[in-house]
Amino acid sequence: MPVPSVEGVSRPHVVDDSSIGLDRIRLVVVYFVPADVIPWEGWRERIVPALQEMEAFHRLQFRGSSELVHEIYTETIVGERDSAFYDGSDTARGNPHAWEAVREELNRRLGALRQDDGAFDARLVLFEGVGAVGGVDQILVSSGYLQSPVEMPRASAVFYHELGHVFGLKDAYTYEHGAPLDEDIMGLGRNRPIGQTYLSEKAKKELGIR
Ligand SMILES: [Zn+2]
Repeated sequence: MPVPSVEGVSRPHVVDDSSIGLDRIRLVVVYFVPADVIPWEGWRERIVPALQEMEAFHRLQFRGSSELVHEIYTETIVGERDSAFYDGSDTARGNPHAWEAVREELNRRLGALRQDDGAFDARLVLFEGVGAVGGVDQILVSSGYLQSPVEMPRASAVFYHELGHVFGLKDAYTYEHGAPLDEDIMGLGRNRPIGQTYLSEKAKKELGIR
């Protein structure tokens, strides 16, 4: 007798690697302050609603096939170095130098993220400085998104956009002029309140969302 097809069985996964599942994603949230900067006491209460918005967006876009949860490292982490060290000479393109320097320091001080208990672990670094960059297993975003009344409405969309890069999604806008290639969260939607954007059908397909 022919074996019944198992074609209907699939799970969400990172782009281009179906062996790394995204059924359950644990976002470890860390507040990181360079040594020469005064910490912001209000970060904990401001970030929780943004995380909840991201989680609701995630549930809806993944059609319930994946769960995004967060764990907040409540202690403020004071960096070993000053801002100038983390920022490097150029903070354009979202401040990738800070992303790398902070990742190295946090992996050393807190231990690298584990990926061996069935969940996909990623880290959200709320950075007391400039930044919006995501990749590999970490996003680094400026606390300014949660402090400025102008930025706040789009904070969770920007954070989720960067998480999209951790999942392997590419930007849906051109770097030369910032012209959007799509209205979804990887394109124009990153500048809107998260409830007014979505993951494109192309992105859903790449992530194995059915
Ligand atoms: Zn991007």
